[in-house]
This record gives sequence, C-alpha cells and structure tokens, in this order.
Amino acid sequence: TNHLISRLHAASRGHETRNFARFPARASVTFGELFAGAERNAAALVAMGVQPGDRVAVQVHKTIEAIQLYLGTVMAGGVFLPLNTAYTTSEVAYFLGDATPRVVVCDPDRSEAIRGISGDARVVTLDAKGNGTLTESVVGRGAFTPVARGAQDLAAILYTSGTTGRSKGAMLSHDNLASNSEMLKEYWRFTDQDVLIHALPIFHTHGLFVATNVALLAGAGVVFLPGFDADAILEAMPNATALMGVPTFYTRLLADERLTRERAANMRLFISGSAPLLVETHELWEARTGHRILERYGMTETNMSTSNPYEGERRAGTVGFPLPGVEARIMVDGVPVPTGETGVLEVRGSNVFQGYWQMPEKTAEELRPDGWFITGDLARMDSDGYVTIVGREKDLIITGGFNVYPKEVESLIDDMPGVLESAVIGAPHPDFGEAVVAIVVATDPELQADQVRETLAADLAKFKQPKQVILVPELPRNTMGKVQKKALREEYAGLFA
Ligand code: ATP
Ligand code: MG
Repeated sequence: TNHLISRLHAASRGHETRNFARFPARASVTFGELFAGAERNAAALVAMGVQPGDRVAVQVHKTIEAIQLYLGTVMAGGVFLPLNTAYTTSEVAYFLGDATPRVVVCDPDRSEAIRGISGDARVVTLDAKGNGTLTESVVGRGAFTPVARGAQDLAAILYTSGTTGRSKGAMLSHDNLASNSEMLKEYWRFTDQDVLIHALPIFHTHGLFVATNVALLAGAGVVFLPGFDADAILEAMPNATALMGVPTFYTRLLADERLTRERAANMRLFISGSAPLLVETHELWEARTGHRILERYGMTETNMSTSNPYEGERRAGTVGFPLPGVEARIMVDGVPVPTGETGVLEVRGSNVFQGYWQMPEKTAEELRPDGWFITGDLARMDSDGYVTIVGREKDLIITGGFNVYPKEVESLIDDMPGVLESAVIGAPHPDFGEAVVAIVVATDPELQADQVRETLAADLAKFKQPKQVILVPELPRNTMGKVQKKALREEYAGLFA
C-alpha cells in the first residue's frame, strides 16, 4: 500500500458521490471524482517518467486540479514539491537547481521562462482554470493502483518561507504528514459533517497539509476558494462549520461589517496560525462572533506542534499545549529552563521532518541525533502548560551586550492608543553593535514618534528603549501574513551608519 494515500482515501471510500469541494460558481467535485482524477494524474506522471522518489515541482494557481496533482504525485510514488506562486523566474531557478525535479508544472504564462531554467526536467502546464498540457495528458487515462510506499518514504519537499534567510527544503515522509493530520483531525474534532472554508494557498504547509489532509482524513467537505476573498468567505459562512486562516484573514474579516454573530452561527471552529495572532484580534473576534479563535503553532519542518484545546480554555496570546505525540522543551545553553522562563523551543515526535534536502550540515545543526528539532523560536511555558511564542532567536537584538526581545517592546507599543501594530528590529550601530529601532503603524494620523518614545521611557529599561521610532503606513508581509523583518533590517541598515 501507499502509506499516505491509503489513509487520505479511507474516509471517503464507499462515499464516492459525496461532495468534497464546493465552489461559488461551478459544480462541486465529489470524493469519487477527486480520487479518480488523482489516479489519472498519477498515470500521466508515470508516463512522463516519474519513478519513486522523483520530485515533481509545481508552481501553479490554486485549483482542484492542483490538489489532484498533489495526490497523483504521491500515488505515483513521487515527491511533491510546491512553490509559492509569487516566486520570480530567478527564484524558481534556485529551487529547480536545488531539487532537480523530473517534472515541472507551471502556468502557461511562465512556461517559456521555466523551460529556460529547468534543465532536463519535463515542463508541462496547468492554468488557473485547470487547463494546460498537463490536463491534456491526464484526460483519458484509466485507473491507477497507487505505488507502494512506506511510512519513512518521502512524500513531499516543502521549502520554508524564507522569513529569516534562504528557504530550505524540508523533507517530509508519508508518516510525518499522515500522523500529524490524523492527530489534528481528532484534536479539532473534524468529521464528515464538517464543511471547511479553504481559502489558504496550497504551496504552504498550512493550506496543503493542515487544511487539505485534515479534511480528506475526516471525509469533510471544503468550500474551495482560490485565495482570500472576504465576500466569498462571508457568503460561505452560514453553510460552513470551520475556517483555517492566518491572522490577516481575521483582521480583514473584522473590518467588514457583514461579519456578525448570526452569520457565524453555523460555524463551530475558527483556527489561526502561521504568524502571531494579536490578543486584540482574539478579543474583537469573540466580541463580534461569540467564537474564541483557536490558535495553533507549527512550521514547515514539524507540521503542527502545539495547539490550544478544543474544549477548555483557548488562551489568547498563547499557542496552547504540545499536541498528542509531540514532546516540547524550552532550552538555554543545552539545559531546560525553569517554568515561565524564555528559551529556544525544541520539539520531538513523528511530526518532525527527515532533514533539509541536500543540506547535511544545516540538518546536523538543527536536528539533534536523538530526534529533538531546534525550532529557532523563542518561547516560554507557563505552569498550566500553555506555550507562548516570544519571537525568533534570529530576531533577538543584542545592544551593548544586553538582550532585547522585540516582542516585549512591540507589545507595549501595540497597546498604546493610536497604534495599530509595530515591528521592533536591531539596526547596526557603531557604539552598541545593534540599536533598537521601532517601526510603527499608527491608526491616529496625529501620533508622533516622540510620543511613542516618551511613553516607552516610563515602562522600559533604558537599553530596551528604541533609539529611533519610525512611523510607516504598513508593515511588509508575505502571503502567509508574516512580517518580513529581514526586509525591514535591510531598509534601515544605514540608520546609524
Ligand atoms: P524560514 O524558516 O525560511 O526563515 P519561516 O520559518 O517563516 O521561514 P514557515 O515554516 O512557513 O517558514 O513558518 C514557521 C514559523 O512561523 C515558525 O517558526 C514561527 O516563527 C511562525 N509561526 C507559526 N505559527 C505561529 C503562531 N501561531 N504564532 C507565532 N508564530 C508562528
Ligand atoms: Mg523557519
């Protein structure tokens, strides 16, 4: 058997005529059609020469055909390798050179440019409507028996988001994906009665594995949207039961007055992750809809590691407890810290990846021989076991020899009246090594940088106070809602030069 596929297919076997994907403006796709299409994809890929272990690199719009391509790749024994649609040709060139795929699937608009950089790989196309040369070679193929693959075989290579540096290819096995999604299905109580609003991109772990795999394992339906669209989400809500989103989904929906308690009455679960959810957003959401958002934490390398509980208190500002089967510890200098203190979060379990593709040194640095993975996230755990993510180790500022956690300063700024949000970074400084700089987005057009500095002076030790406060209209974010501190550090690198 094929470890992952047999599990993803199990819940819907015998229910072929039930709907899997519903769309605002076209006929639904049943579970039977989904898997039959996946089998045709697998047959087409094998005909193109894909053998077990071969990578299939995919940079395409979000369509149900792309989901069938994902399933078909795994059925064929291949390794699915999705790429962010925002990547430019030169960025894609790095990934293709690194991963040496057998087949590359791209949008027809890009196919000429991609052919120029794809070496020996076969290039086929798939557009936003599900058409292209891939589709032509898929149509008319027959049933396919999934290639046998074991728990430890690779199912996917997912590149990390590149927030802190160059993206790394995380090798994920069949069991990494299957075990995590099976556990999440139980933990979050997904069943075949659920209808999940699926508006996340499918090139990232959140939309591809958390959302898609959990829905398939539960035999749940999805409202399949090509991307975030407040109109479509609000329209779907009265007939849906769950939403998975990044924090910007929630802030954007809150800005829409059609979001009401009545509209959310059929919903049982709102989940957030991939970037920190502000306590304020959590509270506003509850006031408006009556639902407490369930925040969870994960990463490309580990799938999901912690989650707030389904029943029990969902504590705002925390990412909840280590999930069943996931061990977590918080370390400083190789020793666990006392409860409540901050250190680097490490996790271990069947969720943890197999290493970075073609980066043995990097793998050795971050994955300990006894299975503990060093996440690089700074965290603390309170006496009830709730984990709070305090930021990233790489974002820690060292100024005049003192450590400053950006989040501590950001939280104080964010709480000031007239402030929407902030990002605190270190900028090179001739005396201090690094100087604390606060980039602030105001809601009050009258807000002055000096006011922010004066308010902070009352609450913070001198070395933590920003040497400079800069007001900007918005923070740079990627599609997953992650603030791009790397871009900010580059922009303000010359501030004290
Ligand atoms: P790179 O590793 O290339 O620098 P990245 O870490 O942003 O990029 P991802 O794997 O997409 O790439 O993101 C994982 C990171 O996202 C985590 O390490 C953590 O910093 C952040 N994250 C995920 N969920 C949450 C959450 N609920 N709260 C705070 N941070 C989160
Ligand atoms: Mg990372």
